[in-house]
Amino acid sequence: MKKIIFNSGRILSVMLVAAAAFLFSTQMMAQNKEGEVKVVAHRGYWKTDGSFQNTITALKKSAEIQAYACELDVNMTSDGVIVVCHGPKVGDVEDVQKVTYARMLDVKFKNGDGVPTLEEFLKAAKKGWKVEGKGTVKPRLVLEVKTHPADKRVEVVSKVVALVRKYRMADRTDFIAFNYDICKELRKQMPEVPVQYLLGDKSPEEIYKDGIMGIDYEYSTLLANHEWIEQAHSLGMVVNVWTVDAPEKIETMIQLGVDYITTNEPVLTQELVAKYRK
Ligand code: MG
Repeated sequence: MKKIIFNSGRILSVMLVAAAAFLFSTQMMAQNKEGEVKVVAHRGYWKTDGSFQNTITALKKSAEIQAYACELDVNMTSDGVIVVCHGPKVGDVEDVQKVTYARMLDVKFKNGDGVPTLEEFLKAAKKGWKVEGKGTVKPRLVLEVKTHPADKRVEVVSKVVALVRKYRMADRTDFIAFNYDICKELRKQMPEVPVQYLLGDKSPEEIYKDGIMGIDYEYSTLLANHEWIEQAHSLGMVVNVWTVDAPEKIETMIQLGVDYITTNEPVLTQELVAKYRK
């Protein structure tokens, strides 16, 4: 009888350990839906030979290293063309939103690339590139709609949405924006594409009410409000962080369980993510 009690005690403790392990693993999954941080190449992979920020070369190079996604910035020129560049100053143009597209064609970067239109960028991303040993790599996009004056916002969003639809890139795109009205307009016009808000002045709960399903906040904002990571996950939202380049900061964000890290150092970030995979 004594032996049976002893054995059942052991069985009970084994079951408790198994239950704890299960709970721990589900908690880990809750922290990060797919268990691994996704690396987003900020403005493409540009800190490498022959590349430059927000160009098709930077998009291609982000595909070659198999970054999870390529982040890009879009602006609308005065004559209504959506171009890929950060701005406002681009090359010798003082403000991309105040000049015509023809003027943007004068801009040439030191790697030989010009400023792509969003249409050219989407066309290239849609097709992807053959990468040795990896087949055809088709990059995902984290598409930032830059802030525009209030009377232009609907037009900018309509044009971006029309192009993403034209190239059937909805399932490979996330939208991001600092301007909250632009976030809401993106959500309204293209509800099938998730939107992440960039400014960092609202809790996940606040933006969830508007159907914005992600936060993409600056490193120090997210660190100071790290409880937002759990709050976002409990609401089924994703957490992205910008722009994290220092190894110790990248590791801090991996440990905090963010879903995406947006970085100018995608290769280093991939190495650190791999370290935590082991
Ligand atoms: Mg950006």
